[in-house]
Amino acid sequence: MFSQIKLKTGSRSEMKDITPDVQKEISGMGISDGLCTVYVPHTTAGITINEGADPAVCDDIIRKMDEMVPKNAGYRHMEGNADSHIKASLMGSSVTVPIVKGRLALGTWQKIFFCEFDGPRTRKVTIAG
Ligand code: ZN
Repeated sequence: MFSQIKLKTGSRSEMKDITPDVQKEISGMGISDGLCTVYVPHTTAGITINEGADPAVCDDIIRKMDEMVPKNAGYRHMEGNADSHIKASLMGSSVTVPIVKGRLALGTWQKIFFCEFDGPRTRKVTIAG
């Protein structure tokens, strides 16, 4: 089964916890056990799973990504957002999570984060289960 959620991001770079949205879609699909793929159909945004308990973790990740991939560094891409494309590739465009008894079987501290690198924008996330 397949569904899509829309979300709005509020800044150029941010990590947004979409775990409740993904769980809602999975519950709506009525899947009991299986795998859920969460896919980002964009070239300047990505997705990852990491700690959701301490927001400083996401702040550190975004800050370090900005350090590793600066906005202006003599890139050839004419649109002016080469750093956003590079960060999106580093993060990846999908994650897969087991579904057990209708629930996302994430670890205790894990959350699914949509990673915006060229916001603010309206974005889509595809969920296949
Ligand atoms: Zn571009």
